Amino acid sequence: MKDHIFASWREEYIRGPKEEGCVFCRIASEDDKDKENFVLYRGPQCYIVLNRYPYTSGHLMVVPYRHLAEFTALTASELTEMMSLAQDSVSYLAKQFSPQGFNVGMNLGQSAGAGIEEHLHLHVVPRWTGDSSFVSTIGQTRVVSIATDRVYDELKSSFR
Ligand SMILES: [Zn+2]
Repeated sequence: MKDHIFASWREEYIRGPKEEGCVFCRIASEDDKDKENFVLYRGPQCYIVLNRYPYTSGHLMVVPYRHLAEFTALTASELTEMMSLAQDSVSYLAKQFSPQGFNVGMNLGQSAGAGIEEHLHLHVVPRWTGDSSFVSTIGQTRVVSIATDRVYDELKSSFR
């Protein structure tokens, strides 16, 4: 998916300083900062978080609390919960933003495009026809972070 979408605000993420430790474990442990971290929902084994550096508006991730890289090491109940939360995400995103399609999937390993390969996560990316040209025209970090705040507020109520 990343080959087809030009999202210039991702420069900030790619070139900016990387935080020490695992960002997904930090977000999992900061349960008093869900709004700042854009956490939409916490389930028993996984949580849902909006991507701070989205490919498109509404780009979110389903993340197991457990710090692991190997897809084959997920338990059956973690897999079930991940897919079920992905399904809810698609349903709420469809209702709220009417995208024309979705990419749902995982990048496993750096060669496959994983930004954070040590803690696997499932991407849900809403797609619109021609979204690459749309995002490149509004490709300002500030604009997108405002948009992410708004997307968060609009989606948060769906995930109750
Ligand atoms: Zn982790």
